[in-house]
Amino acid sequence: MQVEENHRILKGGDYWKVIPGFEKIEAVEFESHQFQQRATVTSVEQLRRTLGGLVGERFHEDLSAGIRNAPMALRISPHLLSLIDWENPETDPIRTQFLPLRSTQQPDHPMLQLDSLEERRDSPVPGLTHRYPDKALFLPVDTCPVYCRFCTRSYAVGADTELVAEKLKLHANQTRWDQAFAYIEATPALEDIVISGGDAYNLRADHLEAIGSRLLQIGHVRRIRFATKGLCVMPQKILSDARWTDALTRVVELARRLHKTAVVHTHFNSAHEIVDCTQRAMNLLVERGITVRCQTVLQSGVNSNASQMQLLVKRLGYVNIQPYYVYFHDMVPGVEDLRTSLAEGLDVEKRVRGTTAGFHTPAFVVDTMGGGGKRDAHSYEFYDRTHGISVFTSPAVKPGQWFVYFDPLLGLLPEVRERWQLPEERRAMVTQAIRSAGGEADASWELHPSLQDSLKP
Ligand SMILES: *Cc1c(COP(=O)(O)O)cnc(C)c1O
Ligand code: SF4
Repeated sequence: MQVEENHRILKGGDYWKVIPGFEKIEAVEFESHQFQQRATVTSVEQLRRTLGGLVGERFHEDLSAGIRNAPMALRISPHLLSLIDWENPETDPIRTQFLPLRSTQQPDHPMLQLDSLEERRDSPVPGLTHRYPDKALFLPVDTCPVYCRFCTRSYAVGADTELVAEKLKLHANQTRWDQAFAYIEATPALEDIVISGGDAYNLRADHLEAIGSRLLQIGHVRRIRFATKGLCVMPQKILSDARWTDALTRVVELARRLHKTAVVHTHFNSAHEIVDCTQRAMNLLVERGITVRCQTVLQSGVNSNASQMQLLVKRLGYVNIQPYYVYFHDMVPGVEDLRTSLAEGLDVEKRVRGTTAGFHTPAFVVDTMGGGGKRDAHSYEFYDRTHGISVFTSPAVKPGQWFVYFDPLLGLLPEVRERWQLPEERRAMVTQAIRSAGGEADASWELHPSLQDSLKP
């Protein structure tokens, strides 16, 4: 463990050859995005074939049962699959994120809702979320190169990617995209557009360029970012898909000529995901002058202890990726085992800050349920550790409203866990927490309507 703590030691060589299904694949093939896409594993049977006898039957059964109980479809690239430590798959941080095991799943928190961030409520046109005054989130695609267990957008992401279906969808999308551009054009307050999804990696090169330049040509748009998990999932694409990387480069160069910025935001959660190939992909982007920042999701067993997070932050910095945010896990179904309490995350933050440059130190944020947006985790108005309730306000986004976040029940006392099962008790605990934060007597009724539903008897 100590040896691995070195952030400069990056895994290289033919690391994929430990997987029986990839044993005969040579570097030229493995490092092409076509192979990565073609050999992406999307079913339990395919996983079984690929892994051969690498893991026992018990693991496969645990996984099949876990997937039946999960909100997201299975989708993992050969690259990530090969980076899992198959001698200890139960505790591996990459396995934990992409391959759910039934034996570790926990019942959902009683306050949990699908689309917990209420993105659809703040959408003036489908696929465009405008929540903050000067920035908006544009979702031109609904597929990703991988499906993460913990995805916040499990309500939307994960559609069929059959070739024909994709063609139809892209065709249909053009009208939707035009609606989004028209809204942005008619909204001068918007200066900052996040192009996400799904994942911008799944945009065709010509679409990526068309969307990027269309947005940059809107006078009041000053900044755009392409959000993609691709660098983590399939860094090979940056190196081998010249059309895509060149299209991205041209958008960034156009931004520069217009005195605007276009950057990439990516998503790594574990230092194990950053290897030699990642560094080579990053070196190319650095040579092209492309800024890359990282958003991380805090997850138990992946990065929730200080040494794991320190290693991730240092290794990101080493390959020239700026750590930007660490998100507390959103309250989405089927992933209760991945969430951490606010207290655990605050402790990690305290130990990470100071280990490296301030501009390489991520801000730890809670993306509040009910549309309050991201809040600095330290900025809670009140934190009731016994019942696991933190209370936030968001004066710039939704003034006068209260926002709450709930710690996983697993870390609470048994009698407290029991109280959470009863609606009237839930209401009492939430009301009390908001009152302690300075709210009115029955402030729980000022909460977002859908949260109130979880409090109804
Ligand atoms: C996160 C997010 C943004 C971007 O916020 P930053 O804090 O600038 O990274 C924009 N819109 C929505 C809806 C978001 O969730
Ligand atoms: S890449 Fe992002 S949008 Fe896609 S499944 Fe993972 S978390 Fe969700």
